[in-house]
Amino acid sequence: LPEYAFIGRSNVGKSSLINMITNRKSLAKTSGRPGKTQLINHFLINKTWHLVDLPGYGYARVSKSSKKTFQKFITDYFNQREQMVSAFVLVDIRHKPQPIDLEFMAWMGENDIPFSIIFTKADKLKPQAILNHVADYSAVMMETWEDMPNYFITSSSKEMGKDELLNYIHEVNENME
Ligand code: GDP
Repeated sequence: LPEYAFIGRSNVGKSSLINMITNRKSLAKTSGRPGKTQLINHFLINKTWHLVDLPGYGYARVSKSSKKTFQKFITDYFNQREQMVSAFVLVDIRHKPQPIDLEFMAWMGENDIPFSIIFTKADKLKPQAILNHVADYSAVMMETWEDMPNYFITSSSKEMGKDELLNYIHEVNENME
């Protein structure tokens, strides 16, 4: 079955998003404490694809060698998983584009790993502020790649963006058949 990886810095709202997608209230461990999701978890969704929960990256505060180790772990993972279709990089909609996230996306691009952006916690901003933040992101992405990746605006607490995300994945799956 096709696999889609979900990745983001700790506390970005990954567990909550996975709970929303899997319709569970408390399957992935959610916690206000950063860095809780450590292992790779697989979830079967609609019996048609696998959601792969990759460990959060947060290498802003780690050494160069830990960063290398993490990157190797992720590239190895993508290289050995033939079923891997693409990744979703989660970013908190409230934050301006962060170097750590941009660096990670640049690295995904260099390694030919297709990805989309998932903006999380959209309920925390007013619609206009959401547009502004997405525009900020687009501006930065265009500088680097002349393109804004595919993106989704989500809120796990308001069940927002779920259908768009699921429809997108189902469409990609259908086009692969
Ligand atoms: P993870 O570390 O990336 O798995 O993040 P969690 O899912 O554990 O969420 C981190 C914190 O953000 C928790 O306190 C959540 O309640 C909160 N959170 C997650 N998603 C949302 C959301 O969509 N809206 C709001 N308002 N808070 C959220």
